[in-house]
Amino acid sequence: MASKTVKTYCRFCHAYCPMEATVEDNRLVALVPDSDNAIYGGYTCVKGRQLIEQIDHPTRLQQSQKKQADGTFAAIGSEQALDEIAVQLATILERYGPRSIASYNGTYSYQNSAAHDVARAFHAAIGSPSYYTSVTIDQPAKVAIGPTRMGWWNGGSHMWNDADVALIIGNNTLVSHYSIPGGIPSFSPHNALREGRRRGVKLICIDPRVTEVASRCDLHLQVRPGHDAAVVAAIISVILSEQLHDKAFCDEHVAGLEQLAQQVARFTPEAVAAAAGVPANQIVAAARLFAAGPRGSAVTGTGPEMGPHPNLLQHLVQSLNAICGRHYRAGERLPNPGVLTPAGPRSAQATGPQPQWLRDGVRSRVADDIGETVVLSPYGPLAEMPTAVISDEMLLAGEGQIKALICVGGNPLLAWPDQEKTHRALAGLELLVCIDLKLSATAQMADYVLAPKLCLEREDVTLLTDIWHDKPYSQYTRTVVEAEGDKIEEWEFFWAVGKRMGLALSMRGGPIDMREKPTKFDLLANITKGSRVPLADIYHTEGGRVFDVPDVILGPPDPATQERMQLHPPGVDEEFAAAHADLHRAPDRDYPLLLVSRRMKNTYNSTGPELSLLKSKGTTNPAFMHSRELAALDIADGEIVEVRSRHGAIPAIATAADDIRPGVISMSHCWGGSPDPTARTDEQIREIGSNTNRLIDNREHAEKYSGMARQSSIAVAIRKLS
Ligand code: SF4
Repeated sequence: MASKTVKTYCRFCHAYCPMEATVEDNRLVALVPDSDNAIYGGYTCVKGRQLIEQIDHPTRLQQSQKKQADGTFAAIGSEQALDEIAVQLATILERYGPRSIASYNGTYSYQNSAAHDVARAFHAAIGSPSYYTSVTIDQPAKVAIGPTRMGWWNGGSHMWNDADVALIIGNNTLVSHYSIPGGIPSFSPHNALREGRRRGVKLICIDPRVTEVASRCDLHLQVRPGHDAAVVAAIISVILSEQLHDKAFCDEHVAGLEQLAQQVARFTPEAVAAAAGVPANQIVAAARLFAAGPRGSAVTGTGPEMGPHPNLLQHLVQSLNAICGRHYRAGERLPNPGVLTPAGPRSAQATGPQPQWLRDGVRSRVADDIGETVVLSPYGPLAEMPTAVISDEMLLAGEGQIKALICVGGNPLLAWPDQEKTHRALAGLELLVCIDLKLSATAQMADYVLAPKLCLEREDVTLLTDIWHDKPYSQYTRTVVEAEGDKIEEWEFFWAVGKRMGLALSMRGGPIDMREKPTKFDLLANITKGSRVPLADIYHTEGGRVFDVPDVILGPPDPATQERMQLHPPGVDEEFAAAHADLHRAPDRDYPLLLVSRRMKNTYNSTGPELSLLKSKGTTNPAFMHSRELAALDIADGEIVEVRSRHGAIPAIATAADDIRPGVISMSHCWGGSPDPTARTDEQIREIGSNTNRLIDNREHAEKYSGMARQSSIAVAIRKLS
């Protein structure tokens, strides 16, 4: 029996933990952490340990499916499915124009390192701007609106490994395995946190829960949800009034400091404390501790990013880092200049705001102040349409209405805000194609479901995380086991359909061969052309490692090109006014509790609950509440309750959790099933959970520019169902 052990890495989530796989006759028989890896130190989580089971899981699609006239699915060969889909897309393109063809690239699409670039090439070839991703569900303010309005620092912000302090707002990396650089690294986060604490890093948390991270911090502001922007404004007001900011840095690199100071002046700790539910002296202590640094960044996570005033919150967090000068300076060595990103010198200087990105991009058809958002990538600006209003784009008749949706590694019916509307929008499409490993809630509505290869069945490189590490780390993995049956990769869909439609696809490295299917390596070489380390070198390196790239020392600012980060961009005054008004808003008597989002260890958004080990840890998304709250409402731990907002109602399992602030309910998103009453998913609350997006009206608090819906800090009430 042929047996081999190979190094690879997990792509269940975006932490990319290195693993060693033992394969016998193309069967994966063992999968263990790669304990040789210096960065991860042998770390994996419970989800990654389920990859073997995932390959042969009974719910996994072994081949593609086509919806039949009676609503059932029948197997179809992928070539036949691609033929039929290409014909239908060509017809829709001809009849309705390019914008009518959309793709939604969900969290799983990011784990295939070629998927996004080939999907974008397809969109460019047909001239469709209707390119959507999961990023604009929860973090457009952080990755797009904030830097667009304020500008950014070309030398980057202080990272965890050389920080003295970190301010972490609603980010529980120990469970989510996600943080932008500056927070606790996503890679072996427990080790990173322990190492940081040993080094003396001071940790400040702002979170309504005593999360796994908050329980290990120096100062925890256990806030009432919804006032994160006001709390950060108060922290800035203390720093500026006590002159704790970096004056020299501000003098040279920022604009609008005086106006920012005027705006935050009314957000005194005393003015914010009552609404935010924390003592004023805690806000003062947080401000002084962060300002003392001298190094370290403020970062946010999903909760506050999906809560009220996301644009203002990100502006304030980025302003806080700027006024405290938490950026690498001239003469300093960049900790990680990138391995796969383009080589080139870097200067310690700011790039100013890019208002044209908000002004000139493709506009949403549903509101003039919403349109394309631009994410700054290592390869330059990348525009995408905001997913927050994609359902409206699908429902609104007229020129540009989305008629066909290609859903890649995502589950819109569970993930998009306003579930009822999402259901209507998906049901009204002329063509819905899903690339999904199982018949998910969304896939069940599809015309075609293409069966994809899983991560260990394909090559990949750690492109997504290239600049998230604090060292120049990378890993290329070969295919560990060949996929059995008729399965394709996500990028192959766009290439194959593009070929059938006679399109010429091109990426940043040049045209893609449309006659012979390119290899994955060829595609990745195209995508990473000009990288600091040639892709071939990473390909020939066994396992993941830190590459010996030449030091990048930040050059001095170039007077001819240096600009300033704008702390007072147009529009921010109205956002300050709205956040300030919220401080005095009376509680909603009918909906007195606030529902916030949370992550769970046993799922990655909607993926995971079907796997046995993850299932054993829970099959529902409980409504976690303080035991005092439950007692006051005469609700027993484990009882089924109704969670009701002004927009909708869902069942939930009430669960006592004294790490939560009273007055708050905490539930994980992306659970449950279809809202169609005939599906009777509410009756399966203990088996599949329920969907919090049914509680949300996506347009009620739509944020300017991105249309982002309020998905956390939702006013709700609960009642016993029995
Ligand atoms: S954190 Fe878990 S799921 Fe994510 S890559 Fe690592 S092992 Fe896989």
